[in-house]
Amino acid sequence: MTLTVIEPATELVLAELPQAGVEQADAAVARAKAAFPGWRAVTPRDRGRILGGLADALDAQLEALAQLEARNAGKPIGDARGEMGMVVETFRYYAGAPERLLGDTIPVAGGIDMTFREPLGVVALIVPWNFPLTIASWKVAPALAAGNTVVLKPAELTPLTALELERIAVAAGLPEGVLNVVVGPGRTVGERLTSHPDVAKVAFTGSTEVGRRVAEAAAASIKRVTLELGGKSASIVFADADIERAAAAAPMAVFGNAGQDCCARSRILVERSVLDPFMAELERHVLALRVGDPLDEDTEIGPLISSSHRETVASFLSDGAPVAFRGSAPEGPGYWFAPTVLGPIDSQDRAAREEIFGPIACVIPFTGEEEAIRLANDTIYGLSGSIWTRDGARALRVARLLDTGVLSINSNTSVRVTTPFGGFKQSGVGRELGPHALEHYTEVKNVYYATEAS
Ligand code: NDP
Repeated sequence: MTLTVIEPATELVLAELPQAGVEQADAAVARAKAAFPGWRAVTPRDRGRILGGLADALDAQLEALAQLEARNAGKPIGDARGEMGMVVETFRYYAGAPERLLGDTIPVAGGIDMTFREPLGVVALIVPWNFPLTIASWKVAPALAAGNTVVLKPAELTPLTALELERIAVAAGLPEGVLNVVVGPGRTVGERLTSHPDVAKVAFTGSTEVGRRVAEAAAASIKRVTLELGGKSASIVFADADIERAAAAAPMAVFGNAGQDCCARSRILVERSVLDPFMAELERHVLALRVGDPLDEDTEIGPLISSSHRETVASFLSDGAPVAFRGSAPEGPGYWFAPTVLGPIDSQDRAAREEIFGPIACVIPFTGEEEAIRLANDTIYGLSGSIWTRDGARALRVARLLDTGVLSINSNTSVRVTTPFGGFKQSGVGRELGPHALEHYTEVKNVYYATEAS
């Protein structure tokens, strides 16, 4: 079978590749299984050296990778360069991990008790199309650092940089079979990986619906599972905030990556007393957004990933929720969608409840701290969020009461290589990045050594 990869900005064919099926998935697991004893036996220092070499090799290819990702995923080239920079940093960070996988010694009677962090074996990593290589690196780097071998399944819409990663890794000295990329559909290859008896763990990023199926399939053989799923995050703007700054930052916190971001602050909760000035500032910034060719250095927002996804996003405009204002988007070929602000809308409207995964923001007014917290938490999701206020005590008080994994105060950033990322509630299970990710790619082993005859 052949897979045709489309460029979302032009709707033209970008690549044609062989499409894997269940047989190729099984072969990849078999290669990873065969490579596991050798990879876990590589000394921690050498494992770190190989990962560091891979980071350098990726850095040397950064521009080519960024161009490929920009074309395949339709993301602005500036963003793609930033993402590839993060990929390099992620491998560099975890290159330091093998020598830091520390255990404990625990005081016990009659001997010495110690713990070790052991690799799991073959891990299957299933990633989506919105940040293809970035999300892959968040999983591949800690998995390899901990001594596991990997089968990586990219989304069929965006497989190109994952294939490059495999090629660059082998050239950088990663032993054959340690990292195996399989390009095939989720419903065959993905399902096979999540139920394969030789796969010890599945790490998945994607929709909550598929995440549930992954967890169900993995349960049959008690595989370890980590899930990074959907979001409907809130940015809370209190009346005492720097309104100009909050309104200037709000558009890209929803429309960045054309809104195809699980961390998107797609619900903007604004204290009623500052709603008008906030909306006026927001409109000014939204109308100035540059939507267009991802390879143009000035572009801020590219197209959506596919025609069918654009239809899904557009369906949220047909429910009758009031459109406050819309930016512009190119005509003609390409899956364009103008950034759109709905509001003020009710928190029960469909657009305010479901993950849209496109450039549509919902503005929801509130009165007082208690209502802000109640509205922000009134969702099945709990991934990210922001609090905008000049009152430091309020910021921390509210932060502690929000049911969400990643919060920013007077900022909309969510992700750093060194800090944990992941969701509460139906936004997922487990944490990526930082030292926390390593816990999900290792098992704790406890060993007791008797030093006294009992
Ligand atoms: P999916 O959850 O369907 O896809 C994510 C990954 O899972 C892809 O690699 C996909 O493969 C694979 N997959 C699909 N079905 C299965 C399965 N049964 N078993 C194992 N793996 C599977 O996301 P979509 O691409 O369909 O996007 C739909 C919606 O999901 C979006 O509109 C958005 O709301 C949400 N989403 C959230 C993301 C996030 O970052 N949290 C990322 C992407 C989507 P393939 O696509 O190759 O078939």
